[in-house]
Amino acid sequence: MRHSVRAALLQEVNGPFVIDEVELESPRANELLVRVTASGVCHTDLTYRAGAGRFPLPAVLGHEGTGVVQAVGEGVTDFAPGDTVVLSYFSCRACATCVSGHPAYCQHGPAGNVSGARPDGSFPMRWKGQPVRSSFFHQSSFATHVLAHQHNAVKVDASVPPELLAPLGCGFQTGAGAVLEAFRLQAGQQLAVFGAGAVGLAAIMAARVAGASSVIAVDLSPERLELARELGATDTFLATEPDLTKTILKRTRGGVDFALECVGLPQVLRQAFDVTRSLGTCGLLGLPGRDNPNVTLPMMGLLVGRRLVGILEGDADPKLFIPRLINLHAEGRFPLERLSCPYPFEAINDAVHDMETRTAIKPVLLMEGGCSP
Ligand SMILES: [Zn+2]
Ligand SMILES: [Zn+2]
Repeated sequence: MRHSVRAALLQEVNGPFVIDEVELESPRANELLVRVTASGVCHTDLTYRAGAGRFPLPAVLGHEGTGVVQAVGEGVTDFAPGDTVVLSYFSCRACATCVSGHPAYCQHGPAGNVSGARPDGSFPMRWKGQPVRSSFFHQSSFATHVLAHQHNAVKVDASVPPELLAPLGCGFQTGAGAVLEAFRLQAGQQLAVFGAGAVGLAAIMAARVAGASSVIAVDLSPERLELARELGATDTFLATEPDLTKTILKRTRGGVDFALECVGLPQVLRQAFDVTRSLGTCGLLGLPGRDNPNVTLPMMGLLVGRRLVGILEGDADPKLFIPRLINLHAEGRFPLERLSCPYPFEAINDAVHDMETRTAIKPVLLMEGGCSP
């Protein structure tokens, strides 16, 4: 059986999203049919819109969905119709990497998340009779209904507003997970965050939760630095400031314990690396653009015990970490509402424009009855 639903189709690289009717399959084994209530827009969606996926279009993007389970396929035991779920990234939960507790690096992750297809290569949606890429992060949440996998769905408290739940699936998990899971930052340690967007600001909120002694934020925008301060940054710097790394090294007396690159640019990664102290760790979160830039690092800088690590999805297991973030929010320690900016689904191109022009930090599309932007 097929269901007629609405989805935002991307038909050409950097083109607009066009909302149209598509046919969605019924759930297969291990899948959930989810009525989407909201979906965040993440920088990864924009990078894929700009052609990073190199897969044929049209495609339905979106990977920060939340909604209500309508039906479940064979073999689904932990979910039932009526459950509220947050959709995160796909992992097989069975390979050696998943079993070791790091599902973000699942050996089947690339096939299940960024091919635009299911891990077996099939597509859940058809448009004008033709299959389209519609399983981005096993959800393609820029749609009113999607097929998710039981491995990338997390059952959550239905009382939290959808515009707060949606971005937990990727952006907020990535920033907060980097600090709390990948770094396991301890009270009294220092963090520097380059890029105060949704990911960087989530990292800053998490650093306050962990009791960081100083949290440095760097961004191009004075408004974002002001917000970073309100959310926990102790020192802020404009990215254009001359001798930025020297100033930060001086301020931190030789560098920070942890630095995070949240932009995806080689020169910013180099700055983050340079302000990390010996035995400290510099983490890369930003997704580089299609040109796949390279970075040059001083070998001596590594030799003195600095670590450089790439971090996907905060190295967090969504089944454990998303409920933890929801609890922190309930305690008033993770104020998601400061970052989330709702748009009606029909205004998806405005949301994308506002994200690209940095006027909205975390646009969230409301699939039903969203207020005007
Ligand atoms: Zn796996
Ligand atoms: Zn994302």
